[in-house]
Amino acid sequence: MSALSEAIDAGFPAVVADLVSLARIPSVSAEGHDTPGMRAAADHVANLLAGAGLSVRLLEAPEAPPIVFAERPGPTGAPVVLLYAHYDVQPAGDLASWSTPPFEPTERNGRVYGRGASDDKAGLATHLGALRALPADLPLHIKVIVEGEEELGSPHVAAFLARYPEELRADVIVVADSEHWRVGTPALTTSLRGLVDCTVEVRTLRNGVHSGQFGGAIPDALSALARLLATLHDDAGRVAIAGLVSAAAPDVDLSEADLRSSAGVIDGVSLIGEGPLAARLWREPAVSILAIDAPRLSEAINQLVPVATAKVSLRLAPGQAPALAMDALVAHLEGHAPWGAQVTVTRGSSSEPFMMAAGGPAYEAFRAGLHEAWGTEPAEIGVGGSIPLVAELSRAYPSAEILLTGVGEPTSAIHGPNESQDLGELRRACLAEVIALSRLAGRA
Ligand SMILES: [Zn+2]
Repeated sequence: MSALSEAIDAGFPAVVADLVSLARIPSVSAEGHDTPGMRAAADHVANLLAGAGLSVRLLEAPEAPPIVFAERPGPTGAPVVLLYAHYDVQPAGDLASWSTPPFEPTERNGRVYGRGASDDKAGLATHLGALRALPADLPLHIKVIVEGEEELGSPHVAAFLARYPEELRADVIVVADSEHWRVGTPALTTSLRGLVDCTVEVRTLRNGVHSGQFGGAIPDALSALARLLATLHDDAGRVAIAGLVSAAAPDVDLSEADLRSSAGVIDGVSLIGEGPLAARLWREPAVSILAIDAPRLSEAINQLVPVATAKVSLRLAPGQAPALAMDALVAHLEGHAPWGAQVTVTRGSSSEPFMMAAGGPAYEAFRAGLHEAWGTEPAEIGVGGSIPLVAELSRAYPSAEILLTGVGEPTSAIHGPNESQDLGELRRACLAEVIALSRLAGRA
């Protein structure tokens, strides 16, 4: 333990430098799979992994950013561990909300600020720190994959799995793309929600007509759409779509004050739903309206709007079959059209929820590593979002033990302005991973 800790400390300045250099690259996958930023990120990741002593190549699929694949073979029969992170990031969003430019990573108060500094370039930095500190003779077969389209929902993961089944096969898969409970308290993520989404078009008129001439007798499509969308929740804010499942509440809960401040809820706005907050966020369905297509304010004229469209997103509890949830969502929208409006639903994307099987060797090794690195028991948490790759991997390799670790925490503001990574947490994450890998190899 102390030798590993010293090795992590000795290598940590390089880990921070790697994180900063990675966060400087604008690898925004939403801007395209082959942009200069995406290519530069894949190249830099490949160089860093090669520098850590792994053999590296790129896995390719049509129209997809490459997966950087790195390997350090172990002796025959050694456990195969696949370490995962992603090099793509969310768009920066509103630049005016950033205190420092999103792609000029800045260190202040022990944190690195920048888009991707936590999600998920810190996940990759954790793997690099652990790999460099790993004893050279450790009997483990290590693989690393760093993908470039996680923020798009990994649309080509099935294509990669079909092309590279042997490269991606492992006994243990460590997905470093989740979060810790809070600074000072590590966590293992044991559940992810799934997701389905759709667009719903509401039409009341063949074309726009004068609102003075016809208003009062003829419904406009935007009012009809608003009424339809309002039926997705009851008055308490519970999801009103029939037939969805929920999973059991977790052992830990969030305080309302913490949740309000981490989300930036406006004073006076009440929370929606009922029961423990952690259950509402991790173990129950949630429905949100993501966008509406309708005339812009600047284009508004005195006209009854003939057609309006919304995108609806439904998060799924662990245990929910996405196909059944999609059917339930479509049936709800089609069944609640106000005033006989014409409703056309187009089904969108879909991803499976995930519930980790506790108690395997990797689970025990990572629990022990987290405990030693932080000096406190890890919390077992859920994540309200989904990682489609996790569901695909668990389907492709049902006997693999999949662990969700992470290095950010609720104040990391991932996907938001001023995203940041706490460097003390990053150091402990590197240490926890190297301890866990040593334990997995049979060295406590
Ligand atoms: Zn991520």
